[in-house]
Amino acid sequence: MLPYGKQSISDGDVEAVVEVLRGDWLTTGPAVERFETELARWTGGVPCLAVTSGTAALHVAYVAAGVGPGDEVVTSPLTFVATAATAALRGARVVFADVRPDTGTLCPDAASAAVSGRTRAVTAVDYAGHPADYDELREVCARAGALLIADAAHSIGATYKGLPVGRLADLTTFSFFPTKTVTTAEGGAVAVADPERFRRAARFRNHGLVRDPAGQRDPGHGGWHQEVHEFGLNYRLPDVLCALGASQLRRLGAFRARRAELVARYDALLAGVPGLTLPARRPYVEPSWHLYPIRVRDGRRREVYERMRAAGIGVQVNYIPAYWHPVFEDLGYRRGLCPQAEAYYAEQLSLPLFPDLSSAQQDRVVECLTAVLGS
Ligand SMILES: *Cc1c(COP(=O)(O)O)cnc(C)c1O
Repeated sequence: MLPYGKQSISDGDVEAVVEVLRGDWLTTGPAVERFETELARWTGGVPCLAVTSGTAALHVAYVAAGVGPGDEVVTSPLTFVATAATAALRGARVVFADVRPDTGTLCPDAASAAVSGRTRAVTAVDYAGHPADYDELREVCARAGALLIADAAHSIGATYKGLPVGRLADLTTFSFFPTKTVTTAEGGAVAVADPERFRRAARFRNHGLVRDPAGQRDPGHGGWHQEVHEFGLNYRLPDVLCALGASQLRRLGAFRARRAELVARYDALLAGVPGLTLPARRPYVEPSWHLYPIRVRDGRRREVYERMRAAGIGVQVNYIPAYWHPVFEDLGYRRGLCPQAEAYYAEQLSLPLFPDLSSAQQDRVVECLTAVLGS
C-alpha cells in the first residue's frame, strides 16, 4: 500500500542516531540543546523546547498560557483531536469555531464570535501546512485579552507575509511524528517567545522541578536540593531522538522543496478534473505542505476512498470534526455546530504526499483517481 505520508531517513540521519547511542548520554544531553537551537533558526529566533510528542507540546503550551478550570479555549474542529483534548485535560471548556471553506483554517470571524471574557487562548491550526489568518486572529485575541496559540504540527518551515511559523503566535507547537515533515519517531516542540512562559513550559516538561537556588523556597539544604512548586510531567525528548531531529532539520529545506514540487504537480495534473476541488493557497503564504487535501464533490468521497484503497493507494481522511468524538458528544457538543468544518470533512481526501514519493508513483495516484471519478 502506498501510504499517504512517510518519513525519509538518510544514512546521515542513521549515523547521527548511532553516534549518540555510542556516547555517554541517551536522555538529556548535548543533542537536546543542539536540536532546540537549530529549531529556533526555523522559528525566527523564538526559543524552542523539545518534548515527547506534538500532543505533549500542546499540553505544555496550555500550561504555559495559564489555561485552567473555568477558562475557555477557542479552536478549530478540523484538526487532530489532541488540539482540543489537551485543553480539556487542563480543565478548560473547549469552544469550537468554524473554519474557512477554502483553506480549512480557523475563520477569524467565527473565532471573534466565539471569544468571551473567559477565553484564555485561541488555538489556530495550520491545516495541511497552510498558515492560518494570523493578522486577523491576533486582532481577535488582542480584543479578547487572550493568547494566540498556533498548532503548527503540519507547518514547520512555512511563512506568512514573510514571517516564519513560530513568530506568528504567542506559543507555537510542532509534531515530529513520522508522517509529519520532520520526524524524531515520536516527538514535538513548543516555541515560546515570552521568558516567563518559557520558564513555566520548561518546568512542566521536567516534573515542575526548580533547581536554581534563587527560585527555591528552602535553598539551604545543599547542592542536591530541588523543589516542586507546581506539578509537572516527564515530557523530555531523549538525546537519541534529538540527534535524529537535528539531522532531519538540516534536510527541511529539501523536504519543503520536494513537497512543494509534488503539490504543484498534483495541481497541474488534477486541474479541471470534474468533481474535485483542489487546495487553496493565499498569495502571501509559503506553505510547508504536510497534506495534499482534495475535496471530492457529489457525495463520492467514501467511494473514492474505498476504491483507491482497494487499488493499493493509501489515501486518508483528515479530519473528523473533533467534537464528533464521543468524548465531546458526551459533554453535550452536537453535530451541526460548525457547518463549514463538517462540509469540509464530508468531502476531504488526503492524497499521498511525502518527499520520497516518485513522480511515477504520483502519476499512478492521479491515474487511479481520475479512473475512479470517470466511472
Ligand atoms: C499530529 C498532530 C498532533 C499531535 O502530534 P503527535 O506528535 O502525534 O502527538 C496535533 N495536532 C495536529 C494538527 C496534528 O496533525
